[in-house]
Amino acid sequence: GYCAAQDYDFFYLVLQWPGSYCNTKQSCCYPKSGKPAADFGIHGLWPNRDDGSYPQNCNPDSEFDPSKVSDLLSSLRANWPTLACPTNDGVRFWGHEWEKHGTCAADVFDEHGYFQAALRLRDDLGVLRALTAGGVNPDGGYYTIDQIKGAISQGTGFEPYVECNRDESGNSQLYQLYFCVNAAGDSLIECPVLPRGRPCGKRIEFPAF
Ligand code: 5GP
Ligand code: 5GP
Ligand code: 5GP
Repeated sequence: GYCAAQDYDFFYLVLQWPGSYCNTKQSCCYPKSGKPAADFGIHGLWPNRDDGSYPQNCNPDSEFDPSKVSDLLSSLRANWPTLACPTNDGVRFWGHEWEKHGTCAADVFDEHGYFQAALRLRDDLGVLRALTAGGVNPDGGYYTIDQIKGAISQGTGFEPYVECNRDESGNSQLYQLYFCVNAAGDSLIECPVLPRGRPCGKRIEFPAF
């Protein structure tokens, strides 16, 4: 079988706020299973190096096989929903993430292990709970980066990198959160290096979904 030496130092666990993916000029499409819950969904679990570079598409022979994650499909639909158009069941998004990123962590994860790990890590974090406990609610209001990071650090023990995008009116809004995970893929850690995501304005909208 395929075998590769580890070519990364840690992972980014990237979560997306569906309200901020959908209210842009580009808009979105709900998956076949219907409108996802108003909660952070997974974008991906991405192997990364301490110098900021990252491997990708590591094994063209390891195509995504939905039958290998059949026991996780309902959890994937709920917690890793696709919002890209046209409407689809998510297999395209999950397949893209596995083939581009997951195949680069073959030293620790097979396909099932990769998806199971991301789902567990997201569950353990409880990001939305931490935000709302800290008074940061998805209600279309505006918050500072310190309020957002403070609430998440307080509630989860880990400070994320916050990436923003713009709503259709051009307001800077909370789009993605980057957390870091050790090379074994089983524990959250402080980030060794920050990603090159789009930064946020002084006032950050947290739109409803
Ligand atoms: P990445 O940014 O991980 O390379 O890939 C994101 C890819 O997955 C894009 O091709 C995008 O169209 C597709 N995709 C499908 N559903 C989603 C979604 O809900 N969010 C994001 N960010 N990308 C999605
Ligand atoms: P991708 O390579 O992800 O297909 O698309 C490139 C960029 O377009 C990504 O930053 C992704 O977030 C964005 N994108 C792709 N599809 C959609 C969509 O349906 N709605 C929104 N709002 N953004 C999208
Ligand atoms: P974007 O340009 O939309 O931020 O990113 C496009 C895609 O490149 C992401 O979906 C992801 O697959 C990959 N990518 C962007 N930044 C990073 C990064 O810092 N680390 C890793 N591992 N992948 C990244």
